[in-house]
Amino acid sequence: SNDYRVVVFGAGGVGKSSLVLRFVKGTFRESYIPTIEDTYRQVISCDKSICTLQITDTTGSHQFPAMQRLSISKGHAFILVYSITSRQSLEELKPIYEQICQIKGDVESIPIMLVGNKNDENQNREVESSEGEAMAKKWKCAFMETSAKVNHNVKELFQELLNLEKRR
Ligand code: GDP
Ligand code: MG
Repeated sequence: SNDYRVVVFGAGGVGKSSLVLRFVKGTFRESYIPTIEDTYRQVISCDKSICTLQITDTTGSHQFPAMQRLSISKGHAFILVYSITSRQSLEELKPIYEQICQIKGDVESIPIMLVGNKNDENQNREVESSEGEAMAKKWKCAFMETSAKVNHNVKELFQELLNLEKRR
């Protein structure tokens, strides 16, 4: 079918919900509202047909382990988000990446995007772009920096994920 399930992981506060809401609704909010788990559906065009993107916005890295395993099992593609203003948030992606490898096996055949969000906050940067790129290379996944706040690379992020899927 043309249903395509994308799961968004990352530490609390890195901007997972903001990226999803920016993409799906075109909005941004300054306040932080912790997420339980939400799923959004978005119809998009890919090639000459249409696909339904089902985007699961998770609570963060402190999700219930059973829920996290289930999200990984059901997911076709993964967005791993850290904030460029927090080295810790990049560290927190490692166990999630490892669990994706463990559950999915051949990780090179799965579309994964490592995302450094909040790149409008250059003055508070803790993680250089080159470090994000290096991590993505090590993880054999794609890499992008985004800003949900100023709407930088958000549409491109989801589009690129679909392109990765088609290249499989
Ligand atoms: P989540 O816990 O990963 O879902 O994070 P949220 O999407 O709830 O965002 C956490 C906080 O970071 C909120 O106060 C947002 O307004 C802020 N935020 C999210 N994305 C960006 C961004 O791209 N730039 C900046 N400066 N702040 C952001
Ligand atoms: Mg959230």
